[in-house]
Amino acid sequence: MPIYEYICDDCKSQFEKIVINRQQEISCPNCSSNKASIQLSVFSSAISGSPKSSSGSSGGGSCCGGGCGCH
Ligand SMILES: [Zn+2]
Repeated sequence: MPIYEYICDDCKSQFEKIVINRQQEISCPNCSSNKASIQLSVFSSAISGSPKSSSGSSGGGSCCGGGCGCH
């Protein structure tokens, strides 16, 4: 069952609701207003890209390794 996060338009409080169908009435548990807007930014922040900044080279030295003669 999908759980959506809502923010109330009247009192600006956030709450989560299990939504069976989109047409159901959402009422705020704080002020019982039915003017709540859905928040969709919850899942998009969780799907961040894979980190490419980390260097995958083993060894960790700045040199090319032993026997290169650059020292
Ligand atoms: Zn409210």
